[in-house]
Amino acid sequence: MSRWIVGGLRRGIRTTRFPDPRAVAEEQAGSTVALHWQKLTGSKALSAAALCPTDAISATGTHENGELRFDAGACVMCGRCTRLLPEAFQSVADPRVAVRDRGRLQMVLSWQDGQPPAPAALRREAAQVQRRAYRLFRHSLHIRHVDAGSCNGCESELQMLGSPYVDLHRLGLFFTPTPRHADALLVTGVVTANMEEPLLETYRAIPEPKLVIAAGACAVSGGVFAHGPTTKGPLDRLLPVDTYVPGCPPTPQAMLHGLLLAIDRAEERYGHDRGEDGRGT
Ligand code: SF4
Repeated sequence: MSRWIVGGLRRGIRTTRFPDPRAVAEEQAGSTVALHWQKLTGSKALSAAALCPTDAISATGTHENGELRFDAGACVMCGRCTRLLPEAFQSVADPRVAVRDRGRLQMVLSWQDGQPPAPAALRREAAQVQRRAYRLFRHSLHIRHVDAGSCNGCESELQMLGSPYVDLHRLGLFFTPTPRHADALLVTGVVTANMEEPLLETYRAIPEPKLVIAAGACAVSGGVFAHGPTTKGPLDRLLPVDTYVPGCPPTPQAMLHGLLLAIDRAEERYGHDRGEDGRGT
């Protein structure tokens, strides 16, 4: 709390300058976790995987030969890996974590004969980044939000987008209650069986061309509910997703980055290995 007050007094203004790059360092809330794979050994990788409550870190094999899969899109920010192995797993304070290519949130490491882990080819369907009509909505984007089975953590952060501090309207972004007036569908939550049809109906009601944004670990990957009996998601199983915003919940600034990325007004920055300074390449 005191950090916010001091920050407010220092800034002397109410509204953040984010996404101005000069304001990025002012945003300190953790957005997701980054893996610095150079700091891992086979046995450390196995211990981290044993602690992770979601499929964000999963590993098979022994400390001599094995494979680790890391998916920042499934991370719920529980902090277990960052406490156990702070040199390898670090909270990312930079809010620019949204991506268009789901593969940029994922990584596979393998190790053999006791050698240090090294990145292996990502065995997933080719990362087909859809170059859709991103730029069409550059100056004005109307967003229909659907809670498809969220715990309301994401909604709480979404509300902050309209606050004087974030003020998304200054960037030409608006929420609309009707899909007929919307350009983009922003989905939070895991997509439960009961919400599947209402979600698809909303999607169909939005005129073409349209964008789809998956916000939060549940929409991106299923999060802790990925294997639930009523879970129909993650979202990209049901709809073509243009932008993924990881986090549990994503910070308002991370949501803002996702929205701007969807309309080609932001850079896709997040990578599983963001380098020593946490900023990536
Ligand atoms: S912080 Fe994320 S990656 Fe680490 S253990 Fe928790 S859920 Fe898994």
